[in-house]
Amino acid sequence: MALDAVPLLRNEALTALAAAGDDAALRAWHTAYLGRKDGRLTGILRTLGSLSIEDRKTVGAAATALTLELEAAFEAREQELRRSALARSIETGRVDVTLPARPHLQGGLHPVTQLLRKILDACRSMGFSIVEGPEVELDYYNFEALRIPQDHPARDMWDTFWIDERVAGQTPLLLRTQTSPMQIRFMEEHKPPIRIASPGRAYRFEATDTTHEWMMTQVEILAVDEGLNMGHLKGTLLDLFRRLFGPERRIRLQASYFPFVEPGAEVAMDCYVCNGVGTGCASCHGTGWIEMLGAGMVHPEILENMGIDSRKYTGFAAGMGLERLAMQYYGVPDIRWWYQNDLRLLSQF
Ligand SMILES: [Zn+2]
Repeated sequence: MALDAVPLLRNEALTALAAAGDDAALRAWHTAYLGRKDGRLTGILRTLGSLSIEDRKTVGAAATALTLELEAAFEAREQELRRSALARSIETGRVDVTLPARPHLQGGLHPVTQLLRKILDACRSMGFSIVEGPEVELDYYNFEALRIPQDHPARDMWDTFWIDERVAGQTPLLLRTQTSPMQIRFMEEHKPPIRIASPGRAYRFEATDTTHEWMMTQVEILAVDEGLNMGHLKGTLLDLFRRLFGPERRIRLQASYFPFVEPGAEVAMDCYVCNGVGTGCASCHGTGWIEMLGAGMVHPEILENMGIDSRKYTGFAAGMGLERLAMQYYGVPDIRWWYQNDLRLLSQF
């Protein structure tokens, strides 16, 4: 073995180490030069026996020193590679804070809910309490207690969805056709004076078109007290509409029939778009009036059935459907659009 084998190996090993660019190359380098079994330095140490004692000492010491030097160089190179790999990953994974943010969709209340809240706020400020009842209702509360017995022709107007299950000893279950059942439920538990507004969903078995849906949102108003008459009903509704549609509004009552009131009335409000002029107005179809709700004086028979003395107490009730009112209010021509979840429509309100 040549005496300069150690310095030659040193140059070669350090050059190769500088060229090792990743973890795998580094491992391979370590095995090639410092490996216990086949490493190049081990090879030199194995051949020491062929040298003179003097040379053996010199070369042996140089080889041992080189082993330590190469191990240190290996560790340094390993650190260096780790640092640069970290720097690279920071560079490539960097967040570009100058990019414009992705827009967040901000939710909002459905237009019908917005209108419902306006109406309930107005009712509350007029002294009405808000009460809610079940959407799955007994035939008794939805029809019978409201003077619509089994074979009453008014049931044709209010065909609904029936539930297969029965509550033992009770009338059949159905999806309520109106929020009026809450009148009965409330009067069962409370004595006059009564002032409630009852909002909620109601259902009809109905073919849908631009003005008919099988589900609707209603608000029912009920007041029972001593000496209430049609004047109080009219005044209350006029006040309510003026709070919602402006202080100059007028209302019109036309005689109508509902089994649970006597007398009953269809209530219209003068059109807030044309101020009741009518001619050429799309909102009121040229009539000057907008149909708002059905109302009337609570039938004395209902009060008596609830244990309320109808000679002492009288009451008025009114119920309105909000989807049609919202069509007028927001200028939407098709009632079905409210529940198609189309953001192009809903995000306008
Ligand atoms: Zn009009």
